[in-house]
This record gives sequence, structure tokens and C-alpha cells, in this order.
Amino acid sequence: MRQNHFLSPTLRDVPSDAEVTSHQLMLRAGLIRQTASGVYSFLPLGLRALKKVENIVRDEMDQAGAQEVLMPAIQPAELWQESGRWQAYGPELMRFNDRHNREFALGPTHEEVITTLVRDDVKSYKKLPMTLYQIQTKFRDERRPRFGVLRSREFIMKDAYSFDTNQAGLDESYDKMYDAYTNVFTRCDLDFRAVVADSGAMGGKDTHEFMVLSSIGEDTIAYSDTSNYAANVEIAPVIANYEKSNEELLELEKFSTPELKTIDELTESLAISKEKLIKAVLFIVDEKPVLALVRGDHDVNDVKIKHYYEAKVVELASREQTLEFMNCEPGFIGPIKVTPVVEVIADKAIEAVVNGICGANEKDMHFKNVNPNRDFSVKAFIDLRFIIEGDLSPDGQGTIRFAEGIEVGHVFKLGTRYSESMGAQFLDENGKTQPMIMGCYGIGVTRTVAAVIEQHHDDKGIVWPKEVAPFDIHLIAVNLKDSDQKDLAETLYSQLKKNGYDVLFDDRNERPGVKFTDADLIGLPIRITIGKKANEGIVEVKNRKTTEVFEVTIDQLTSTISDILATLK
Ligand code: ATP
Ligand code: MG
Repeated sequence: MRQNHFLSPTLRDVPSDAEVTSHQLMLRAGLIRQTASGVYSFLPLGLRALKKVENIVRDEMDQAGAQEVLMPAIQPAELWQESGRWQAYGPELMRFNDRHNREFALGPTHEEVITTLVRDDVKSYKKLPMTLYQIQTKFRDERRPRFGVLRSREFIMKDAYSFDTNQAGLDESYDKMYDAYTNVFTRCDLDFRAVVADSGAMGGKDTHEFMVLSSIGEDTIAYSDTSNYAANVEIAPVIANYEKSNEELLELEKFSTPELKTIDELTESLAISKEKLIKAVLFIVDEKPVLALVRGDHDVNDVKIKHYYEAKVVELASREQTLEFMNCEPGFIGPIKVTPVVEVIADKAIEAVVNGICGANEKDMHFKNVNPNRDFSVKAFIDLRFIIEGDLSPDGQGTIRFAEGIEVGHVFKLGTRYSESMGAQFLDENGKTQPMIMGCYGIGVTRTVAAVIEQHHDDKGIVWPKEVAPFDIHLIAVNLKDSDQKDLAETLYSQLKKNGYDVLFDDRNERPGVKFTDADLIGLPIRITIGKKANEGIVEVKNRKTTEVFEVTIDQLTSTISDILATLK
């Protein structure tokens, strides 16, 4: 591609509205432009990178035996009413009416459409298993679109759906997608983890999120420092053993604590460790009041409450609800003598507390020398708290550390959630009707491009991994008015293309400094510069990643290029 008439507008200054590096670089290097909030156009360089990722994804999907289809972005409301999601999906679903006032949505995902397709055309176990995928534009009216294409309202997703006759089949289809995702993100040279996640709202069982490690990530990952265990902090179980001290049990005593409401105020003023404190938090679990107890140095994980009760909604109680159920201001609530309406559950660590301190359900009052099972009872001691750094890894190997991650992919065992509500059934070997067992699998293709840049850049610009780079080589002639340089540049341009390389040829009439700055910003893996030594048949080759520069003769050029590419991912 010749750069002179190529739409690749570069910017010197950092755009003020772009907070994160990938967004800044995508604007500065001329990959994208914003059309509306959370809505972007891809310019040629950006589109080429996007297509590279798409092709990696397509290649890995095909190798995993999935079949490509293309479903419509426009989806009729009836399908969403059938699955029960027309209401449940909420304001993120972009809805509109046609000229006959029929309701539609722009697809944020395609479970409904694919389930009807397969339901209508697959009737027998003989056709199954089957995995279908598409690479297509999705629409989600995000509450906070941000970070450029990392969280936008219109984006490209690869979504795949598997259909099996039984659970073992689903496990196999899931594992194939899991492996394909591992290959995709490895080929994109991303430092990522497959993280066990919460299956919450979608009603399935197993689920993994593929997280690119990055400080701008919106999710926190708990991972082991020695094994490959990694989980979303929301879901990570705690397997600590809490040793009970053999201190003598002292007599329960109420004492006055005016102005001491928070854990810090209490521990400081009483000069005790947080481990002695029993923290009580009131939740409303599907309308039922539940008092959750954790140690003062821990935090209640509401996802664990939700799982324990198999509840739909878990919310912190308001002040009014606290007054109603505990008969006391928040800040002084505790587990002793609560009304039977309130169910008390406690984290396992509470069972080992000896002579602890808790709120007395009375303004400005606490109890000391509190001992569980003696002074109060609970429905159950369960794992109720968030894992923290320093905890034992749940797989028993190593210690937990935290990192932030960007979710680029998601694999999910749906089970019969959609096949049952939408009637996708097959006849088994015995002629019996059964619901299909489904899985769904998504990759944010546009988000992946941004995540690659987030992990691969330096202070001069993007440093593309080999397989995602929009072009392999940036060819620059320093002075095109010099006929030796111009001729050699033209010859090399056609030769390199003939040899199968994608070449961006900077044939612009710009100062060398501008060309070099742009080349670093655009960040193609190899730069070839034709300068004063053109008449001797000598050119300069630069490795963008290592910034090493070599002077080579034309004869050595091909081997130098393949040597450099061989060292790159
Ligand atoms: P998030 O928690 O980031 O909102 P999600 O759980 O809503 O993601 P999924 O429904 O699992 O996402 O969609 C599959 C993939 O699509 C995600 O893993 C992510 O890579 C991508 N994706 C989701 N929402 C967006 C968005 N607004 N912009 C860009 N990519 C997105
Ligand atoms: Mg989302």
C-alpha cells in the first residue's frame, strides 16, 4: 500500500478525551475515529488489524470444527419475549419500532436467533453435536461507554453456540472452545489468564473469562503465585483453616462506645486487632433479612450469599430496613438476641473467634468477650468472605495474589436455559424427545485489538505483534527526489510484495523526521529505510520491538527479514 493516498491521519498530540494508552494510540496512529459516543469508525490501518484478529479467530474456530454462519443484527421482539429476556435485558438492549410499529432490537448477543434456527432445522440426535459461530457487529447501549473500543456501544464480536445431546458432550464442546480461545489469545501475543468466573445471571454452571492482565482492567483476578489457578475475586472460594486459641472464655460484658462506629475507630480506640471484631452486615435476600457475620479484617462477598440461598437478588439493607429488622441504627448491629425474622449466617473464621467484640443492637453500645455458639447461634458457618492477597490458593498450591484484567473472551455452559424456554428439542436413540444441551462462547474482536495495544507499546507508539500487525513492513525512502533511492524503493516494494509480505510504502513527500516518527507510532514489526547508500545497494533494517538497527545489502535483505520475524511472536 502506498501511503501518499492512504487514509492514515496521525496526530502528534495526545487527544484530551482519551484516558487510556490504547485509546490514545488508536487515535494518534489513525486506526479509529469517533463517530458518536461509544461508536467508532475503523480507518484502513485499524481495519487491517481488526481483520487480522478476525482471521485468527476464524482459523481457530474452523480448526475446532465450528461452522461459520451470519445472523441478522435485527432481531424481532417476539424471540426475546419467548426466552423471557425482552424485560430482563434492560436498557442495554437497543430497541426500535419498524414502520408498522412492530418491535425489534439490535442484537447484543444471539442465543435467541441461533436457538430458533437450530430448533427448526435439527430434529435428530444423528445431526448432533454441532457448533456454529459468526463474526458480526453487536449493539449494547452501555451505561458508561469508555476507553475507546474497549467498551463501546457498537463492536465486533465472535459468538459461537454449541448444541449437544448430553452433558458429557457439552463438556467436550466447551473444552474445544476453551482450547481454541487459548490459541487465539496466544497468537495475539497477549499475557492472559483463563479465569473461573461467576455463572450468576445466565443460569448456567461452568464458565471461564479470558482476561488480559492490565492495570486498566475492570475486573480483579485472584491468582496463585505458584500454580495456574485463577478466578474472578467474586467467585474464588476461601479454604483457610482458622485456629481457635485456647484462651479462657470470659464473661460477656456490654460496654459504652459513643462515637465509635467504624471498624477502624473501634480497633484504634480499644487497641485490639481487627481479628477480634465480629462485623455484622444486614442484607435483604429475595425480601428476607439476613445478617451476615465476618471478621473485622474481612469483607462480606454478596455473590457467596446469593449462591448459598440460590437467590435472585441480594441487596444491602437500607437504614430504614435496619431500623425495622434490628431495631437499631446501622453501626451498632450484632448477632446477639436478634429477632427470629432475621436469619444469621457467619463466615467460617467467626467460629474460631474467642472473646470477640460485636455491636449490641443498641446505640453507642458494644459487647466484649463474645463467644460464638455460647452467646449467639447461627444457621451455618460457611465461606462468606472475599478472598484476600496472602490467602492460601483454593487449589492448595501457593499463595493468592491480585491482578486487574480486561475480559476479552467468555466461555459458558448454558445447559438447557434456552432450549427449554424456546423448545429446541431432538429425538434421541430411543425416539424420546429431549432438550438440546447448549454452550455459548464470545470473543470481543474489537476489544482484543485494543487489549493488544494496551500490552504492546512503548513511549513512541504501538509495537505490533507479528500476527496482528496491519502490515509486516514499513518501507521508507528518505528522499524520493534522489533517483537511486526512488528506483530502489520501487524495486523493493514490488519484490517484497511478490515474496508475500504486506508492505506499507511511505512515498509521501514529507521530511524524514516526520516519516520516522509516524513509523514508530504506527509500529509495524520491521522498518526498511532507503537512504544515502542506495547507490551501493545498502539499506537499513529496524526491528521495532528491540529497536535494533542493521545495515544490510540487498542480497541479505530477505534473510534479515525472516530472521527478525522468526524472533517475533
Ligand atoms: P463486560 O463485563 O466487559 O461488560 P460482558 O460479560 O457483558 O462483558 P459478554 O456478554 O460475555 O460480555 O460478551 C462476550 C465478549 O464481548 C466479552 O468477553 C468482551 O470481550 C466483548 N464485549 C462485551 N461488551 C463489550 C463492549 N461494550 N465493547 C467491546 N467489547 C465488548
Ligand atoms: Mg457487559
